[in-house]
Amino acid sequence: MAAGNAIRGTRVGSGPVRWAERGEQAPRSVVAYWCSNGHRTEPTFAAEITPPDTWDCPRCGQPAGRNEQAPPERPRAEPYKTHLAYVKERRTDADGEAILQEALARLRQRTGR
Ligand SMILES: [Zn+2]
Repeated sequence: MAAGNAIRGTRVGSGPVRWAERGEQAPRSVVAYWCSNGHRTEPTFAAEITPPDTWDCPRCGQPAGRNEQAPPERPRAEPYKTHLAYVKERRTDADGEAILQEALARLRQRTGR
């Protein structure tokens, strides 16, 4: 986990240096956020913008905060989409089961005659 963060930090951090060398871009500030899974992300903001207190982690979708020692609590419930997908999956399975049973019943009737 630590190695991944180091690699990510190096890559993200290299951007502002290039911009500074070119001297053509508007002033920017890089703000680090940490999520409850220990991911670090460094979105870049225009210098005149006040960075938000929280940022969605691009790696896991959890809210990330600016205090590494106290990241925001992860939401207790699973995301709605995941739950819906789960329900759909179950319903599809149930439909498939019903179709299978219907087919088997027809097959048995046919062989019974
Ligand atoms: Zn994360």
